Amino acid sequence: MKSISRRALVLYLIIILFLAGSGLLFFNLITHSEEWAMNKANKHLYTSGSLTTAGDILDINGKVLVTTKDGSRSYNEDKSIRLGTLHTVGDSSGYIASGVQTAFKDEITGYSLKDGVYNLQRYGKGNDITLTLNAEICKVAYNALGNYKGTVGVMNYKTGELICVVSTPTFDVYNKPKDINTDTSGKYEGIYMNRFFSGLYTPGSTFKIITAACAIENIPDIYEKEFVCKGKIQVGEGYVICSGTHGKINFEEALNNSCNCAFAKIAETLGNDALTKTAERIGFNSSGLVISNKINCSKSKLDLSDAKLLDLGWAGIGQYTTLINPCQMLTAISSIANNGMAVSPYLVSQIQSPDGKVILNGETQQLGQYFAEMNATKLNNLLRSNVKNRYGDNLFPSMEMCGKTGTAEISDSEDAKPNGLFVGYSQRDDMPFAIIVIVENTNSSMSSAVPIASKVMKAIKTEYIK
Ligand SMILES: [Zn+2]
Repeated sequence: MKSISRRALVLYLIIILFLAGSGLLFFNLITHSEEWAMNKANKHLYTSGSLTTAGDILDINGKVLVTTKDGSRSYNEDKSIRLGTLHTVGDSSGYIASGVQTAFKDEITGYSLKDGVYNLQRYGKGNDITLTLNAEICKVAYNALGNYKGTVGVMNYKTGELICVVSTPTFDVYNKPKDINTDTSGKYEGIYMNRFFSGLYTPGSTFKIITAACAIENIPDIYEKEFVCKGKIQVGEGYVICSGTHGKINFEEALNNSCNCAFAKIAETLGNDALTKTAERIGFNSSGLVISNKINCSKSKLDLSDAKLLDLGWAGIGQYTTLINPCQMLTAISSIANNGMAVSPYLVSQIQSPDGKVILNGETQQLGQYFAEMNATKLNNLLRSNVKNRYGDNLFPSMEMCGKTGTAEISDSEDAKPNGLFVGYSQRDDMPFAIIVIVENTNSSMSSAVPIASKVMKAIKTEYIK
């Protein structure tokens, strides 16, 4: 009797272990099957750690940016297009994590939990992804950036489609520099990062748009106020220095001239809480944007919790510790152009299976009212006034361009060069595009970011207005 019950006990134990084991296996199958199927050891998809067999990536006009040819990935034949779209398309080895070939690897290889890589085996390819990007505009932006490090992003402010995303430094997938991982000179700094999605930059005077928005919202007589600029102004314990001596100016002239004295005073009047509130409403300090449900952007930061009056003065002109993510800033600027309504930027226009079925259609999603419509109109008029009265419509002919420059000091060191920025958009209904240009280590925004924005917007006008 004793031995029978012992045997039964052993049997029960075996059954329990078996069930636990199967459960674990099943659990692993569900949670790790993708990893197993997608593992770089899987010869159907990867050779020597590189993606070889997958669907095509096309631009919005059907231009093939990458395809599979004779068992390896084949990129666009135009070198400038390859370099200009590298960070968005991604490389075959997955160094560029936010690249579509990596971020959308399930879609492009056609993997699904139910069928595994069935489609790939049946059709010899995965799904095709059509991007919202216009490769020709990316090429123009890449060439305009020249040897600068930086980024250019352009989005349709009504729909959210990103038509241009360029990040430099970049490299040619067909001729990757041998010293790319060993160089110490800094020339490849952040080369695997898409600066548009993942970068964080000091905004400089582009932040005055946000200070101006906050002023419109909180200072009822802001348009009647007169500011006096003598080249510097005392704020709290110290001085904020201006780039010029602007004399007596009103609010609009203060923005036209990007007067630090006026905007430091405005920030002082507004206070930490009001400025933080406006910034947070348009996306600062919250989780970053997610592009087409896959690509995470860095989040913009404004932290005035320990800011003294002088710090607040610097924050009001875009210095202090504030950082912007280019994609988030472009989204905020776009909302001004779109009557205050922000739309979510997106990159994937369509995903199509090998048998021609549309699996996904990119669509416009509203993020919310960043600015009251009436205030968006006021900001819009101020930004239009900047281009008309300051930068010159000749740079953006017949575009009814609005914008703001920024020259951001990024170091106290005397030989450190600032970054040049430009954000803006065309008011034309048939050209609803907003642009951000950030050029690292330059002399001024007027000599770097503005001419680049001019070249890209002119190319867009030629392309979109027939
Ligand atoms: Zn001034």
